[in-house]
Amino acid sequence: LHPTYARMPVTIFEHMSGLARELGAINLGQGFPDGAPPQALLEALARASAERSHQYPPMAGFPELRKAVAGFYERTQGLELTPENVIVTSGATEAVASAILTVVSQGDEVLLFAPAYDAYAPLVRRAGGVPVFLALQAPDWRYERSAIEAAITPRTRALVLNDPLNPTGTVASPEDLAMIAGVCRTHDLFAICDEVWENVRFDGRAHASLLAQPGMAERALKIGSAGKIFGATGWKVGWIVGAPEVAAVVARAHQFLTFTTPPMLQFAVAEALDEAAIAKACTASWEQTRAVLLEGLDREGFVTLPSAATWFSCIDLPASGIPLDDRTFSERAVREALVTSIPLSSLWEGDHTPTHIARLCHCKPAPMLEDAISRLARWR
Ligand code: GLN
Repeated sequence: LHPTYARMPVTIFEHMSGLARELGAINLGQGFPDGAPPQALLEALARASAERSHQYPPMAGFPELRKAVAGFYERTQGLELTPENVIVTSGATEAVASAILTVVSQGDEVLLFAPAYDAYAPLVRRAGGVPVFLALQAPDWRYERSAIEAAITPRTRALVLNDPLNPTGTVASPEDLAMIAGVCRTHDLFAICDEVWENVRFDGRAHASLLAQPGMAERALKIGSAGKIFGATGWKVGWIVGAPEVAAVVARAHQFLTFTTPPMLQFAVAEALDEAAIAKACTASWEQTRAVLLEGLDREGFVTLPSAATWFSCIDLPASGIPLDDRTFSERAVREALVTSIPLSSLWEGDHTPTHIARLCHCKPAPMLEDAISRLARWR
């Protein structure tokens, strides 16, 4: 057995959701909405299921979905794309794996900003690469050109930019994006852009893709997720956008990971992407759940870090009067308060690990959020 996996624990998300299931806790750990996805998406699924083939779709995805993704990004982010720019994957994690396998060769160094989603480093290592972590600093999690350049060596091949950033909920500024693109051009780096939270933004906060920066179209792969846009995380429909000649190589990696993605899901997502109102309504509903969580936490004296995106809010434990490190907090809160959270340090490798922050998921019904907040407040 490969020692990487033989020794590896299950992901923090599965660990915490497993405890939530076992203990009957309110699960504000792993990110997923509690209710059904939009009715229009379910109707599109029923139609596709009744009327379309149930056999293998084309390996790179149905032209209908590739076209819908291109159109969605043209309307929402001003990108000029054709279906040849898009490869459909079975979720964004598969997209990340395909992108890393495409870009990273033996011995290549890959810059990862910490906090980093926990799939990146193991996938870089399995591709033969070496993850190099660059710590961002709470509470702003700013990107510093000098720190990035100091980490670059002749072996550096790529960087991974998760923007908006999970777990912090922060969004790169236009200046950040211009700076990071400049670093990529100067040092001939490839950018893997995990933008699955691109549509989960609040307070009117804008998001732009690193792929749209000058000179980046040929050296960036942008990853998106229908699960995040429509709140249907179990569907596992994602995609990768890149220059057609790069996307064609990504497809070679994808063909031996999952090969394809269920046809009815692809058709339903294509229809939903074409109806701008569906994605907008999802974002609007999460703006409300976010307010419920933030207001409730504030009322009970919990201190949250600034954020403007994702389904998550982070609480500062010591500032909230909780004298526990994040892992102890999460392990005890699920058992004693029956509320599940994610310790931020579980998404961190390398130096300067903060251990005072826990992540809570807000895309849940208001009564569930209120119940979780009062449980935490009583227990604290
Ligand atoms: N992206 C999800 C989160 O951050 C987890 C996804 C997973 O568990 N595979 O909560």
